[in-house]
Amino acid sequence: MTSIANLLALLLAIRYWRSSLKPPDEDHHFGHYKLAFGGSISTLMIYSFVAGIITLRLIEFRAYTVSLEAPLMAFLGVSCYLIAVSVSRKLNGVFTHYSKFTASELIEGVVVITSSLAGALLSYFIDYVGALILALYIFYELREVFSEIMKYVGDAAPSLDVTRLIKEEFRKNALSLSNLRVRNVDGVHYQGAAIVLVNPEDDILVLSKKVDKIKETLRGLGIDLVIEFKLRTSEVGAEYGE
Ligand SMILES: [Zn+2]
Repeated sequence: MTSIANLLALLLAIRYWRSSLKPPDEDHHFGHYKLAFGGSISTLMIYSFVAGIITLRLIEFRAYTVSLEAPLMAFLGVSCYLIAVSVSRKLNGVFTHYSKFTASELIEGVVVITSSLAGALLSYFIDYVGALILALYIFYELREVFSEIMKYVGDAAPSLDVTRLIKEEFRKNALSLSNLRVRNVDGVHYQGAAIVLVNPEDDILVLSKKVDKIKETLRGLGIDLVIEFKLRTSEVGAEYGE
């Protein structure tokens, strides 16, 4: 069941990742980046369904026998995953995520082989404990994916490194930044707004050129900023602690 879930999740991840690459258009002014979360949300739904069925099976606990074919089948499954992981490692982009994700499937495979082998040779109870561990691991993964999605849904601020990088860009161009608001869109793209204090005697052409330069540099790093000018008067200066 986790193998079917894995395949479905992969197909949906590719589908949503492709649509997230589209440039901004009339109905998505800020780009389509967040559509990529369709893949993570599908993963949540598919694995939650599987986790529910597995929980029901685990609850109806009774003695059972483990066939020797079980570790053999698990071994065949692990072999297929090994091929998939080595092929996807050679490719780039979304497939590197897939190879990481599927690597956990390999660990699961090893647990299944050992626990079902011990279950067949010694006691079904060892096999049951293996199943419990794997079920708990699915719930752990669900929680991980959920908090990952919530980070971006909640418009979290970027790391201090990213903020420092933006501020540094303004400093290099001798613009005094009075306010900066940035949100992390999908882990590699950032969007936000900055307020720059300007003096009445400043040359608007020079200012515009500086702003264009900053925007271009930041855009190359995946940061999309709206830059607003605010006239430095005595009141504004006091407001920003000058
Ligand atoms: Zn669109």
